[in-house]
Amino acid sequence: MKIALIAHDGKKADMVHFLSGFRESLHRGDIELVATGTTGSHIEKAGFQVERLLSGPLGGDAQIAALAAEKKLAAVIFFRDPLDKHPHEPDVQMLMRICDVHNIPLATNPASAELMFKALTQTYGN
Ligand code: PGA
Repeated sequence: MKIALIAHDGKKADMVHFLSGFRESLHRGDIELVATGTTGSHIEKAGFQVERLLSGPLGGDAQIAALAAEKKLAAVIFFRDPLDKHPHEPDVQMLMRICDVHNIPLATNPASAELMFKALTQTYGN
């Protein structure tokens, strides 16, 4: 299964911390990670394999939305920073809308991501 990861700048450390809690499941190799560009480079530096797309403001969120629309994602983890402004806010809204249109699980904070990830790994027998 493929999981998409996006973290706004103020939340990138939270994303790495979150993934570190699931290092064992992620290193088994049956979960593929795809991320927006800068989020992906932080994830790579932390020792995880991840496919990196464009940076969010350059269209990375839109690329992830396209994957969601094509039903290629099991889930989206999107740590948004509600205290910051984003030049690509329309893309952010579009990604969340596409997840709702296609009923793709979407977690926007670590507490919900943890519950979702645990349920997904159980469902897929990881
Ligand atoms: P980034 O994009 O991972 O390239 O920083 C994330 C975003 O801001 O949507």
